[in-house]
Amino acid sequence: MTTPDSQPSPAPTEATEKPGPPPVPERRRRTIAVSGSASGIGLAVRERFEKSGLKVVGTDVHDAEVVADLSTAAGRAEAVARTIELAGGFLDGAVACAGLGPHVLPFEAIMRVNYFGALAYLDGLLPALAQGEAPAAVAISSNGATLTPRNQEFVDLLLTDDEEASAAMAGTLDGATVYGMSKLAMTIGLRRRTAVWAAEGVRLNAVAPGPVDTPLLQAGLDDKTLGPLIESLPVPVGRRAGAHEIAGAVGFLLDPVNGFIHGSLLFVDGGSDALIRPDRV
Ligand code: NAD
Repeated sequence: MTTPDSQPSPAPTEATEKPGPPPVPERRRRTIAVSGSASGIGLAVRERFEKSGLKVVGTDVHDAEVVADLSTAAGRAEAVARTIELAGGFLDGAVACAGLGPHVLPFEAIMRVNYFGALAYLDGLLPALAQGEAPAAVAISSNGATLTPRNQEFVDLLLTDDEEASAAMAGTLDGATVYGMSKLAMTIGLRRRTAVWAAEGVRLNAVAPGPVDTPLLQAGLDDKTLGPLIESLPVPVGRRAGAHEIAGAVGFLLDPVNGFIHGSLLFVDGGSDALIRPDRV
């Protein structure tokens, strides 16, 4: 008889039945967040990881799991919150690809996405990355960061994180300078984060592409002022990159086997930076 406090006797089992091994926990899929996942390099990164069976949570202004605008504080908060929610609270990787080219008007939009948007996206995802397995993040910088004549005042202003003062100054500069200095400040911002991110167990690196065949580059080539500048950049390997070649470098930097690479800027530019600044290591 069973009283409310007693357990019902287990159902009789076959004498020959042995307890099996404990169930193997289902290996969870590696999950990567990618901004700018709808086009160009971000799309190539998405495709590369999805082909390998990874789960990708993309953010873009269209055609993404998370549709959010990284040029605004509200959009950045939305992108981070929805990404973490869709990823289930942990991330094994993050790639900040979303960006605007030097042709985009008003020029302040460039620094809002390429500097403030990229860093807010990565910083916001850090707690979820810290929950991941061998986690790492990569931001897409540019060799424009090193090859554009330096405007130190603008770089210093960006690094104060005063977005509205930076926007006001961007309005007085040309698109190529706003683009190059936003990428430079973003890369310096990443390098300044190496101690904090390492303490969280998350590696952080950047890739600096040269010209890559994407809609962003095409828009620059179509621009009367920027087109000739882009065409005149010497590329030692003699061609532009395909987006998949930048995705390859991102895959390398996110690969747990490369666990000692942290705080690096990897030029994937066909040799342009080395050609133009051979002694600036
Ligand atoms: P792309 O235009 O093909 O893709 C950029 C993506 O970012 C687009 O899908 C776009 O919708 C998204 N995006 C733009 N603004 C956004 C916003 N406010 N919020 C959310 N998403 C936004 O360009 P791409 O060439 O693939 O560029 C990717 C990154 O690579 C950029 O950061 C760019 O600066 C950098 N990069 C590109 C080149 C090149 O030659 N293509 C060279 C060096 C660096």
